[in-house]
Amino acid sequence: AKKRGRGSHVFFDATMNDALTDALRLEGALHQAVPQGELTLHYQPIVVAGTAKLHKLEALLRWTSASLGPVSPARFIPMAEQSTLIVELGNWVIHEAMRQRAAWQQQTAHPPIISINVSARQFAQENFVPMLLAATQHHGVQPSAFELELTEYTLVADNPAIALHLQALRACGFSISLDDFGTGYSSLSYLARFNLHTIKIDRSFITNLETDARSQALVKAIIAMGHSLGLAVVAEGVETPAQQAFLVAEQCDYLQGYLFGRPAPASTFLEEHS
Ligand code: C2E
Ligand code: CA
Ligand code: CA
Ligand code: CA
Repeated sequence: AKKRGRGSHVFFDATMNDALTDALRLEGALHQAVPQGELTLHYQPIVVAGTAKLHKLEALLRWTSASLGPVSPARFIPMAEQSTLIVELGNWVIHEAMRQRAAWQQQTAHPPIISINVSARQFAQENFVPMLLAATQHHGVQPSAFELELTEYTLVADNPAIALHLQALRACGFSISLDDFGTGYSSLSYLARFNLHTIKIDRSFITNLETDARSQALVKAIIAMGHSLGLAVVAEGVETPAQQAFLVAEQCDYLQGYLFGRPAPASTFLEEHS
């Protein structure tokens, strides 16, 4: 292998310098997000495929930095995932989602189940399960009111704690869903190894559904396989009635996407469910 010579700094041009400065500024600001109260949750409906009635709400993190303005989660979440900052953000999300669920319980007879995204590093924390249970007790909510969305990155870890956490969470009554299904290298092996409740077919398969025969075949196969394993199947990123029609015909259980509603503040959902 080539050694990095002293001259390697010549590759560090002005553009890279700008990018680095931006990244450092972003990371610095992100450390302030929790203490400064800059985070909020938006919620997006997951509906029953046949009827388009609300089934659950997915909580999605939003950050408006005092110094940088709104920052996309696609940008700041991967950055937070590089360090234990994601644990702090993730814990904030859990508490906020539970606080909101408790508020909805006061306001309506049928408060929606909330689906919470959990990062691999957060899930692997030794105290993840007790922390989650303590949070439910603190907010006066039941584990069955929540679903945890994990990705393959969580399950890929060669860490016995992962299987134990999954087992413990199931036993407590939390639902577990596998997010972005089909995008990883070995999605199928995780279905064999872990006992999950739901798979969410990644948006990339849904986007091309109308035009691409291979996406159609894959989506059909994923739905059939999920059902044969006793799993509920959600399709994400549903934007058109034609996509909806295809998924309903293939007996996909639940749909999520702009066709049914964009992520929106909690207050948006209050009227509909009271
Ligand atoms: P995800 O978990 O796959 O969430 C779905 C993303 O797709 C959301 O983007 C949502 O706004 C977007 N989306 C939903 N329906 C449609 C549609 O019909 N068309 C299109 N084009 N997009 C749609 P968002 O809110 O920007 O979040 C991006 C990602 O950031 C999420 O992907 C998730 O991986 C991560 N994320 C968001 N909130 C959290 C959180 O609280 N914790 C963790 N660990 N990750 C989060
Ligand atoms: Ca998700
Ligand atoms: Ca997803
Ligand atoms: Ca995704």
